[in-house]
Amino acid sequence: MQAIRVHQFGGPEVLRLEEQPRPTPGPGEVLVKIKAIGVNPVDTYWVAGANPAVSLPFTPGLDAAGVVEAAGEAADAWQPGARVIVAGSLTGTYAEWTVAKASRLHPLPDKTSFAEGASLPIPYGTAHRALFHRAQAKAGETVLIHGASGGVGLAAIQFAKTAGLTIIGTAGTAAGRQLVQDQGAHHVLDHTDPDYLQQIHSLTHGRGVDLILEMLANINLGKDLPLLARGGRVIVIGNRGQVEINARDLMIREADVRGMLLFNVPDDELRAVHREIFSGLEKGTLRPIIGKELPLSEAALAQKSVMQSGARGKIILVP
Ligand code: NAP
Repeated sequence: MQAIRVHQFGGPEVLRLEEQPRPTPGPGEVLVKIKAIGVNPVDTYWVAGANPAVSLPFTPGLDAAGVVEAAGEAADAWQPGARVIVAGSLTGTYAEWTVAKASRLHPLPDKTSFAEGASLPIPYGTAHRALFHRAQAKAGETVLIHGASGGVGLAAIQFAKTAGLTIIGTAGTAAGRQLVQDQGAHHVLDHTDPDYLQQIHSLTHGRGVDLILEMLANINLGKDLPLLARGGRVIVIGNRGQVEINARDLMIREADVRGMLLFNVPDDELRAVHREIFSGLEKGTLRPIIGKELPLSEAALAQKSVMQSGARGKIILVP
């Protein structure tokens, strides 16, 4: 089969399309024929060598959607032909086939395309965890989705809308802001506009926002804290460096900064989240947005794009 291989850690230029033996599923594992691959920022971190558990050579990628080809011993609850979402893979998803633990597969509704399915695991799992588990979001609260035009941000808009929150979403380009608006954010701002923090202050009549889902804490955390209402919570989802804050901003508001990491969520909790995602897809309240589809051979371009500004939904690779 064809697969992307990494023989040395580095930037997207180290990705190579190579011929590889098709993997075989062991006990409790399933072989999936991949139809679409979700590209996430974390894929680039692993290619750069940020995960000490990853040894060379390897095939990157955690998210995909496809069709069950064969199940190993004790994994026969998954029948060949079943349409599935792969939420974490043992052999990497930037390939034509992948092997995953049976517990890491979730059913894909018939009306959801493979590209939409591959957009779900990390972005929707993260948005759900951040909003409902870490932030304890409640109807009537106001959430600032700081970076709403990408995979996680768009998923967060859709969940927050159904949960009855007032949504302020930001994006750095006109096309990104249009998408955020189309998805139903109540207010849309430009995080590159020098005035946008003041605009949030005005929009909330000086009260501040109850929640902030933060995609780039190293740039924004210090500026986030003065935006919070009393008892407000910032959930740190993305961070790429150090940041200075004034802790007094937390003290006077009795506010919290809370981290979240999807990899900490146990499999049984993730299965419950995927049941909710399945139901949201069936009802139409969740609708993954595909920004770009590229062939697997363009994996380097996909990884470069996912780290650049100008997000407009998910980047998908097609093997
Ligand atoms: P993505 O699809 O590439 O989107 C990135 C988002 O960040 C875009 O909306 C982008 O907006 C926005 N952004 C860029 N500059 C910004 C700024 N100065 N202030 C606010 N937002 C800014 O990535 P994603 O999949 O949504 O992931 C977002 C972040 O969360 C990444 O850092 C990722 O590593 C992290 N993440 C963490 C977890 C976890 O478990 N903690 C899970 C998934 C993702 P424009 O392009 O419009 O400027």
